[in-house]
Amino acid sequence: MKKFLFILSIFLCTSCSYKTILHADGTIHLKKGSSNIYLLQEKNQYLMIDSGTPNTASKIEKALQKNNISPDRISHLILTHAHYDHAGNAAYFQKKYGIQLIMGKKDISMVRKNGLDSHLCGQGLIGKIGKKNVAKQTYTPFIPDILIDQKFELNSIGFDGIILPISGHTEGSIVVIQQSKAFVGDMIRGGIFKNKVPKRHFFMCDIQDNNKDIKYISQLPNIQTWYVGHYGPLKNSDVLKFLNR
Ligand SMILES: [Zn+2]
Repeated sequence: MKKFLFILSIFLCTSCSYKTILHADGTIHLKKGSSNIYLLQEKNQYLMIDSGTPNTASKIEKALQKNNISPDRISHLILTHAHYDHAGNAAYFQKKYGIQLIMGKKDISMVRKNGLDSHLCGQGLIGKIGKKNVAKQTYTPFIPDILIDQKFELNSIGFDGIILPISGHTEGSIVVIQQSKAFVGDMIRGGIFKNKVPKRHFFMCDIQDNNKDIKYISQLPNIQTWYVGHYGPLKNSDVLKFLNR
């Protein structure tokens, strides 16, 4: 158990701060340990995708400040799913800055249970050992402003792109597509050591269904980069190789 907690601490990098990567396609990428938060800009407004692990909001605020982004200019926060390492600071940002929360309708029961998920299927050694610990992680619940259960056009809230509900990793998982970019949450991940190498996510129950979803996203027009919840980003060509391996 001690060994696992050590690996978990590296994985979450609890004492680390968020580093910023500015990608050529305009994606603002905040990265702490294995976890990613993304921001997309449209004129003077920002859309945030995922919110990191609980109690790291002040670190996110510091990273935003370094990038001259006032949280007041973030109009919406999209949660790719309701796990603690994606929705951990959603309540904080909603309450403090009035940021509107968007998430998949089918994950609402998880939010009501403070993020507890009793349906995790561990993949690989880390997934299998980590399952019990991850299943215990909680966060402050919140009431989402927009629930997604069908294709959602982001232009209705002033941004380019769409949201698609694609259950798999969780029932209410959603994907954001904007031009060449796919923000897929935990549909797939990058490698722990080789971050840009696509890997099966640690928690996935139906592998065939997961492959079907990955294939669907990879074949959407113009997709080049997969921005994943953990490690990454991934090239679409590498994701195709992962499917055909
Ligand atoms: Zn997850």
